Amino acid sequence: MRIAKVIVDVQAKAINQTFDYAIPERFQEILTEGMRVIVPFGPRKITGFVVGIKTDSDFDRLKEIIDVLDIHPVLTTELLELGKWVAEDTVTMYITAYQAMLPQVLKAQYKKELIRNTAELLAPELENLFAGRDVISYEEFAHSTIAYSKLQQAIQATDISINYLVKSKVTKKLVTIIEPNKASYQLEEALMDMSQQAKKQRQLLSFFIQHPEPIEQAKLFQITNTNRTVLKALLEKKLVTEYKKETYRNPYDDDAFERTFPLKLTEEQEQALAPIKKKIDQDEHDVFLVHGVTGSGKTEIYLQAIQGVIEKGKEAIVLVPEIALTPQMVNRFKGRFGSNVAVMHSALSNGEKYDEWRKIQAKEVKVVVGARSAIFAPFENIGIIIIDEEHETTYKQEDQPRYHARDVAIKRGQFHHCPVVLGSATPTLESFARAKKGVYQLQTLAKRTNNQQMPTVEIVDMRQELHEGNRSMFSTVLKEKMESVLERGEQIVLLLNRRGYSTFVMCRDCGHVKECPHCDIAMTYHKNSNQLKCHYCSYEEQMPLFCPECNSDLIRYFGTGTQRVEESLTALMPHARVIRMDVDTTRKKGAHEKLLKQFAEKQADILLGTQMIAKGLDFANVTLVGVLTADSMLHLPDFRSSEKTFQLLTQVSGRAGRHELAGQVIVQTYTPEHYSIQLASEYDYDQFFLQEMKIRRSFRYPPYVYLALITVSHPNHVRAVQLTQRIAQLLRKVIQEDSIVLGPTPSPIARVKDRYRYQCMIKYKNEPKLRGYIKKIIDQFADEVRKEDLLITVDMQPYHMM
Ligand code: ADP
Ligand code: ZN
Ligand code: ZN
Repeated sequence: MRIAKVIVDVQAKAINQTFDYAIPERFQEILTEGMRVIVPFGPRKITGFVVGIKTDSDFDRLKEIIDVLDIHPVLTTELLELGKWVAEDTVTMYITAYQAMLPQVLKAQYKKELIRNTAELLAPELENLFAGRDVISYEEFAHSTIAYSKLQQAIQATDISINYLVKSKVTKKLVTIIEPNKASYQLEEALMDMSQQAKKQRQLLSFFIQHPEPIEQAKLFQITNTNRTVLKALLEKKLVTEYKKETYRNPYDDDAFERTFPLKLTEEQEQALAPIKKKIDQDEHDVFLVHGVTGSGKTEIYLQAIQGVIEKGKEAIVLVPEIALTPQMVNRFKGRFGSNVAVMHSALSNGEKYDEWRKIQAKEVKVVVGARSAIFAPFENIGIIIIDEEHETTYKQEDQPRYHARDVAIKRGQFHHCPVVLGSATPTLESFARAKKGVYQLQTLAKRTNNQQMPTVEIVDMRQELHEGNRSMFSTVLKEKMESVLERGEQIVLLLNRRGYSTFVMCRDCGHVKECPHCDIAMTYHKNSNQLKCHYCSYEEQMPLFCPECNSDLIRYFGTGTQRVEESLTALMPHARVIRMDVDTTRKKGAHEKLLKQFAEKQADILLGTQMIAKGLDFANVTLVGVLTADSMLHLPDFRSSEKTFQLLTQVSGRAGRHELAGQVIVQTYTPEHYSIQLASEYDYDQFFLQEMKIRRSFRYPPYVYLALITVSHPNHVRAVQLTQRIAQLLRKVIQEDSIVLGPTPSPIARVKDRYRYQCMIKYKNEPKLRGYIKKIIDQFADEVRKEDLLITVDMQPYHMM
């Protein structure tokens, strides 16, 4: 007998246990590990993943698998193992990790249908099932007695395809293909017989005489300027036939990319690429850190490394931060590798994401360029994994499973015996420290490819400006520079460093700040709707006319939102054309791209925006970058705030003078003496690294120690503290002498959605058993947690201390 080991979708105490299920006769031939199944669990029917097949079980009365959801495994053996590792490493459940590895469409149980793709006869039982129809529901098949292997064969032969129905939208897109039904000479005869009156029909027929190959209906109509009525006439005369073919929704038009070819590398690029290529050729794993200034040609190195990988018949994963998945970046990969590239990011619809994933699964592409979760791309023969802008915090998932894409990349690199390349102008201290120790191989690119100087950076002390009576948000120098740039017809990028800043509402009489009634955080003012919103729980209310505390009508919004800056900018320079880019103006799909395109086409002089404009943009005509408030992040309760400030300033400075025109940068700040601002203005990463490492060492922060953060939340404040206290005590008993447990302390945002949040933090150097301890503690409180609406979250690599 064959028995399936199944990981079930149950949030229970025995979290990572597998359950044995008997495989009924009709699934015997097809069921393999990596498929999803429906199984009985207590009174319920739930989904699960088959993680293994075996022949005997310790239990004698096994329940049977009810249904098989996949005809092909959705997880490979490697990904099944990887998922276990991710779950253990992040102290979450296997099922959570597996779900995170798959596109959304496959996570839920969607309705399915079977589509017939061929006019040829199917196997008799399938022919009976379809009974003349082109589309039937999957359930009809499931309820029939037909062996699954029959269907599997038909799917393999592409005679039938499966379609997942997402919100009643078809996930697989079908197009109608038209092709001649007769040989050319027969068509010519038909043409001669056809009435001269039937002009359009003749036109269409002539087309097929010249172009006998199959063509998409829409394209046909476009080229021949005909329509369905005309076509129908030819169909009825059996001169042409039509059939449906499955296509992928392609968010990118592959024909629109201009083909590019490998550039002749600079000496620095050669030196960086050579050892990477060597590892590719020798099928060996290693981790490279490419530390190259902005514009030093890192992307060209990636492209040429990938080319080597493709030539070997292998595949490549490229991760870029979500925010950098701009058309500019995608163009560079599509331009080089064309339709060999799948693109995955959050702006795609669920259906589009699923299509890209299927292209990868079907081995129809060789390269995936995507955000964090693309690290789980189901390639089976990976030759390189690249993480661009490796310092970006978006590579860490802030939801279960709380994994870091870099760790997963290295794990997969080891499995596939392939190099992992981390690239950045401002590597994380963690990565740079590892490179210095020789754990990673460091490759340095100190020069821009065109030998263009890095733009000069001028720091402006805004306190001084204030002393001199300038109360505007633009310093005198910045104003002057902007004016002369505009006169020369060049362009400007203005960055409003808004993280940690927002437009809050305060009463000028009593100082009352409007906070969210459910979270301990100031609400943010949105001018368009004249509403206050909480960015943590989405609660909103109308902007009050009077202060709720003292009834004064002097309640106003404060802070510098991009809208405010735009207003003062227009007041200051009425002639300048401004494009504002922030969450509000880029919410609509495609808006981001449209605004960038307008700027590239010089329909505007100034691009004003938040963090999202700091990365990856490359405009030849930008010669001035202004940073309005360089220090707004420095005062956040986060030990990485200096590092983040240094990174942001370096990135945004890199936007200026990338081509022939020289660039300059103006950095406005209230703390000009701060080392992260000083050293960023000198592009002195090495010095910054040394200085910041000293601070990390004296305060015992990463990379000198590891952190783990446990957060407990509960509607009752006391209950949250109590449990955190007990967890901290248990941990203190088991950890090594040189480790510390801090807490319980309230989380920096002490209440969210009416739940109080307490945390304890573990700082440690070497605790091989820590994950096990934490898991045991969580298991110990599992009953309390379930009964009392408590929530314990674990983050083994916290980035947000909130
Ligand atoms: P980075 O990714 O390090 O910021 P890019 O790869 O974007 O740098 O390169 C900056 C610019 O230099 C791009 O316009 C790119 O086309 C160009 N470039 C890269 N390598 C070369 C080369 N070997 N010769 C000429 N131009 C190059
Ligand atoms: Zn008031
Ligand atoms: Zn709230």
